[in-house]
Amino acid sequence: MSKWEENVRKVVPYTPGEQPKREKMIKLNTNENPYPPAPGVSEALRGVEVDKLRLYPDPVVYDLVHEIAAFYGVGDDQVFTGVGSDDVLAMIFLTFFNSKKPVLFPDITYSFYDVWAKMLRIPYEQIPLDETFCIHAEDYKRENGGVIFPNPNAPTGELLPLSEIEAIIQANRDVVVVVDEAYIDFGGESALPLIDQYDNLIVVQTFSKSRSLAGSRIGYAISNPKLIRYLNDVKYSFNSYTMDRITIALGAASIRDRAYFEETTAKIIRTREWTKQELRKLGFVFGDSKSNFIFAKHPEISGEALFEDLKKADIYVRHFSNPSRINEYLRISIGTDEEMEQFITFVREYVNKNR
Ligand code: PMP
Repeated sequence: MSKWEENVRKVVPYTPGEQPKREKMIKLNTNENPYPPAPGVSEALRGVEVDKLRLYPDPVVYDLVHEIAAFYGVGDDQVFTGVGSDDVLAMIFLTFFNSKKPVLFPDITYSFYDVWAKMLRIPYEQIPLDETFCIHAEDYKRENGGVIFPNPNAPTGELLPLSEIEAIIQANRDVVVVVDEAYIDFGGESALPLIDQYDNLIVVQTFSKSRSLAGSRIGYAISNPKLIRYLNDVKYSFNSYTMDRITIALGAASIRDRAYFEETTAKIIRTREWTKQELRKLGFVFGDSKSNFIFAKHPEISGEALFEDLKKADIYVRHFSNPSRINEYLRISIGTDEEMEQFITFVREYVNKNR
């Protein structure tokens, strides 16, 4: 090893789901939305003034921040935006998790949390979910330097009731508590109403799932103005212009269309419930997911083998080999009705042949 290499910040990066370059496939592996973005997004894209790309974008992202604030009925100074919620979450780790005490998050959860913690040298403790993959507020009543969890949790899809979330916040008034609501629009109850009551709460959401804009990278945090200010101070110390002009325009157009958002999320919820019903008939076991995916295993079938065989049929789902507690499970994103019918047809034949 060269001398300089001793001082490299060595990290093990997060591994995102595959983005295969295949013409015809059923892609149920990265929790994307199967429906196109709201019609206004195409219009906004056609209206892009290419000449304006000479100029830097608005560093305060006013047009988008204002639309997000209007949608949720909060002040413009209560909204922080980033390049996907991954960017928002990374900024949150950097800004608020700065204690010698460990940050708490579940042992089975979004696998980016421990990556950020390790990279930023933040101590952390992973709190085991119970055997049904549920979070218990009681387990978060211990000394810590911050708390973060997704609701619904990923990759399990389990929703924590608002009363339990409030119990976690109440037990942790001296640290920042972050609720990552990437999947909240698929039937969950948001913790947003609690931000007025608790000055240490941040709610993070994204345009990647319920607003069909994973390809544009828009995430946001909503909190009280003081927390948002702290977050912006760190962000502007890092890079003033993270969101480009085109993305700002597309995001603003997207969130203006409430009817389309409600229609497509309702459609995904219906398809999810149909898929649950069909998987149950085939003997799969899973929790009552309130997200746009189902986390399921079959008692007589290897999760990994099914994952590989689905892939050979150009049907992509997600399989996690770590931790071993979840290595029999598949995380199946909800596609269109036709995609889910094809998925179920394949799985039905597979189960009948292999059990
Ligand atoms: N939080 C959770 C729980 C997620 O599953 C994801 C999606 N990978 C994200 C945050 C980040 O999503 P994005 O950066 O696309 O907003």
